[in-house]
Amino acid sequence: MTDEPDDEHEVIARARRVRRLLRAGSAELGRLDPRSTPGLPKKRPEGFDAKAWSRSEVDRLGGLLGARQERLFARAKAGTDRRRVLLVLQATDCGGKDGTVRSVVGAMDPLGVHLKAFGPPSEEERQHHFLWRISRAMPPAGYLGVFNRSHYEDVLVVRVHGLVPQSVWRRRYDEINFFEQALIKDGLTIVKVMLHISYEEQGERLLSRLEDPTKRWKFNASDLDDRDRWTEYQQAYGDVLDKCSAAAPWYVVPADRKWYRNWAVANLLLAYLDDMHLTYPEVDLAVDELRAGLAGDHARPDAARPEHARSGHTRTNAR
Ligand code: AMP
Ligand code: MG
Repeated sequence: MTDEPDDEHEVIARARRVRRLLRAGSAELGRLDPRSTPGLPKKRPEGFDAKAWSRSEVDRLGGLLGARQERLFARAKAGTDRRRVLLVLQATDCGGKDGTVRSVVGAMDPLGVHLKAFGPPSEEERQHHFLWRISRAMPPAGYLGVFNRSHYEDVLVVRVHGLVPQSVWRRRYDEINFFEQALIKDGLTIVKVMLHISYEEQGERLLSRLEDPTKRWKFNASDLDDRDRWTEYQQAYGDVLDKCSAAAPWYVVPADRKWYRNWAVANLLLAYLDDMHLTYPEVDLAVDELRAGLAGDHARPDAARPEHARSGHTRTNAR
């Protein structure tokens, strides 16, 4: 690629540009081509290999993300900063949530990642408010949390399948906005991403799950039932984008092309992490004293010293 930025500054400027382009409400969702590639550099050399390019770009973005993630983690560890980040991934079945976690989140340090997938609520969870299980799954200070599905299922699958009365799911949009607002005030950065695939692409991915014995375990007969309600889901997603962008905006990532999807989500995350202006914490240590303490082997308890080093005359560093 000829207009490839090599400068960190430019990579971040591009991440911000991608973020601007992916901001979307229901009107954009209706128009957005799931095969499109917003923000992708226009100039491409002959024989451009999109998948290879994306892999190396995501790798590079992963390095920049990892550097920021480490500082976030260090600041929490030092007790100077409670900030944390939450990536919310929503998509219809086969939308690529798992693949995104593997490719983008996988490029970061797993020690600082707090991953949670949401399925149908358990018996216990159903006895609480729908946000109860969500609150319990929030990332601790210093972590990057990732939600594979989220509280938004409570206005998506729940609405489309009529699992609670309309009067109940209708008020949830406001409840979600209040909930997110309170968390943001408390230092959470939320990045909400809808992976947008086409009906045709979903059909192909479902079929390949069925045909390939190594993918068959991912196939769920209920996915076909959801596929029949495609239009209702798109409407429900549209309402989510319009009604729940008040506290933290939604981004819609065209996701028929997996290589674009990974690149776009990595850029989104980078734009947000960079906005946090993370620096390593100031640590209050008597460094000179501690260094001196480390220099002498008196720091090592006698019993822990190897046998050959215990007879006094082997000491070489007497001062
Ligand atoms: P998967 O992501 O393929 O493991 O599937 C998880 C399933 O759990 C999906 O079919 C979701 O629709 C369903 N699910 C997630 N959250 C809820 C919820 N709050 N109520 C009902 N079903 C849910
Ligand atoms: Mg399903």
